[in-house]
Amino acid sequence: MTQITAETVELLDQNDELASFKNEFYVKNDSIYLDGNSLGLLSRRAEQSLLDVLNDWKEQGIDGWMGGKYPWFTLSEQLAEKLAVLVGAEANEVIVTGSTTVNLHQLAATFFEPKPGKTKILADELTFPSDIYALQSQLKLKGLNPETELVQVKSKNWMTLDEQDIIDAMTDDVALIVLPSVLYRSGQLLDMERLTKEAHKRNIPIGFDLCHSIGAVPHELSKWGVDFALWCNYKYVNAGPGGVGGIYVNKKHFTKTPGLSGWFGSKKESQFDMDHTFDAEESAGGFQIGTPHMLSTAPLIGSLSIFEEAKIERIRSKSLKLTTLLMDLLDQELKDVFKVVNPLDDARRGGHVALMHNDAARICKALKDNGIVPDFRAPNVIRLAPVALYNSFRDVYDAVHILAKIMNTREYEKYENKREVIA
Ligand SMILES: *Cc1c(COP(=O)(O)O)cnc(C)c1O
Repeated sequence: MTQITAETVELLDQNDELASFKNEFYVKNDSIYLDGNSLGLLSRRAEQSLLDVLNDWKEQGIDGWMGGKYPWFTLSEQLAEKLAVLVGAEANEVIVTGSTTVNLHQLAATFFEPKPGKTKILADELTFPSDIYALQSQLKLKGLNPETELVQVKSKNWMTLDEQDIIDAMTDDVALIVLPSVLYRSGQLLDMERLTKEAHKRNIPIGFDLCHSIGAVPHELSKWGVDFALWCNYKYVNAGPGGVGGIYVNKKHFTKTPGLSGWFGSKKESQFDMDHTFDAEESAGGFQIGTPHMLSTAPLIGSLSIFEEAKIERIRSKSLKLTTLLMDLLDQELKDVFKVVNPLDDARRGGHVALMHNDAARICKALKDNGIVPDFRAPNVIRLAPVALYNSFRDVYDAVHILAKIMNTREYEKYENKREVIA
């Protein structure tokens, strides 16, 4: 491989069609943020749209629901049109609502319909804990024992899953499958199309948690026939801490009764009739529960307008170039110091690079003190997410050189190898 130099990355930055978007974000001059897979950065547009919504509250009070710059009553639907592009769905198959965990509760409550002999939920042993807690409680609510009825597909290496193992676990007693699109630790991107096809051959509904793919990877949920999906918008979608999430419900399920009903799922025209018979909207909107959180939705207005211009295909293409450069530079500057645990194949990799090292916790502390913001996942994984909208190729180059300095001088040994409360 030819040597990667400062000139190489300068050329990459010059040819980067998305380079100008970096100026739209609050990026610090003396720091390189590689943690956009945990919390995306604030853009000026997201800040402005939040201020706009606040202003409508200030000026209009209750009339902000129908008046104002972005009428709140239909804002979740309006924004869903733009989010639908990111997940590959029709506009009414998507709604901005809830948070990942709440949305999973809603969709599992809706799609998990156990019958005698078909009582299990299939998940995996590497997924995010909150997803598992939600599925455990959904089983308990149906009077089932999570110890026996929650099947978690095993990983052979604690980092990635073998899709064939998942398919082999799709047995007759499985009533629902819930999987991540991208595994949060290793960044493995699962083949959602293949898994959906296999699930449907066996008549099992399947849903995906898109937290680590939305905004980084394009999806074709409708084309693949996925039954449902859910996600948060505060990672790659940059909608702010605790920002309102989203759900996708395939249109063939619009007539399903939501597992958790609430008045914001009502048909818009009749919602304020205040009738005690629930008349759900026949769209993903029918799965909303209560009054939408406007101040945590507002940043999405600005953020999604950036995605509309940048285009998810271009974002994905730059993201793959960034992670490839990162891995190539690690190979050049720090050969064999870290074990790269994310899939190397572009088609199997999400938006971040995952490195294993016994001193991962304290290496992350040293990186932070050197102006690099990484992300640590216990027990020994460093995640580095160069984000297409606000990281340059030069950022990746500088980050690896700083990491090389930290490793070569053993500077990290000054720190205790223990994670912070928030990691
Ligand atoms: C980020 C993330 C969550 C967080 O859920 P919240 O309800 O937003 O706190 C859950 N699951 C996965 C897979 C995640 O990546």
